[in-house]
Amino acid sequence: MNPKRHELKPDEQLIRKSQKGYQILEKTFGLPEWRQPLSALDELVSTILSQNTTDVNRDVAFTRLKKKFPNWETVREAPEEEVVEAIRPAGLANQKAPRIQAILHQITEERGDLTLDFLSEMGRQGAHDWLSRFKGVGPKTAAIVLQFSLGIPAFPVDTHVYRVSGRLGLRPEKMGVENAHAWLEQLFAPEQYGPGHLNFIRLGREICHTCKPECPRCPLNGLCDYFQNLQKPVNCPA
Ligand code: SF4
Repeated sequence: MNPKRHELKPDEQLIRKSQKGYQILEKTFGLPEWRQPLSALDELVSTILSQNTTDVNRDVAFTRLKKKFPNWETVREAPEEEVVEAIRPAGLANQKAPRIQAILHQITEERGDLTLDFLSEMGRQGAHDWLSRFKGVGPKTAAIVLQFSLGIPAFPVDTHVYRVSGRLGLRPEKMGVENAHAWLEQLFAPEQYGPGHLNFIRLGREICHTCKPECPRCPLNGLCDYFQNLQKPVNCPA
């Protein structure tokens, strides 16, 4: 379960540093917006499809799924192999298809129909905990549905956000990705969660690569612990 906010407390200096980093990224990349908002259930399925693949492959798989099946009820009742075939471009289709169908069955059993709109009335922790019970729904997936579909502020931490925040020194180095969600939420204002998430991802994709980060041209190098120290080599294949 995602830790409650009061269990973790960054100090004022770190909050100021985070704010400075946020402002620099906004000046550099602008104020990004999420793609076309989806319903909460559509966003949940789309985010499950996005796991371990690219945005392009996720979108291809999601479009194929929506084209093949007229609604979520027919996805739920379809033979598993038909769902696997539809979402194959997203990869791990044999794992993702049964997970999606199990979630659709569970929502139907508990709620009587296939919608997640009721979550917007549950508040941040309630909606997060409700979603997190499903197999295949971790803190990042839950936070994406909250932030970008339900309008409940949450800071999703994907692999880029986790790596960049660690190198910058915005979180304790050994903090796990689950705890990083609650931690980063205390460094930024709720209205900064969406743009901050997107700009950190962009920085991670374009400059702060897993291997060979391009520190000399990074707009945040003046704030970055990794760049200041440059004492820990990045382990990359030769
Ligand atoms: S200075 Fe280097 S390590 Fe630090 S955030 Fe920028 S690219 Fe990443």
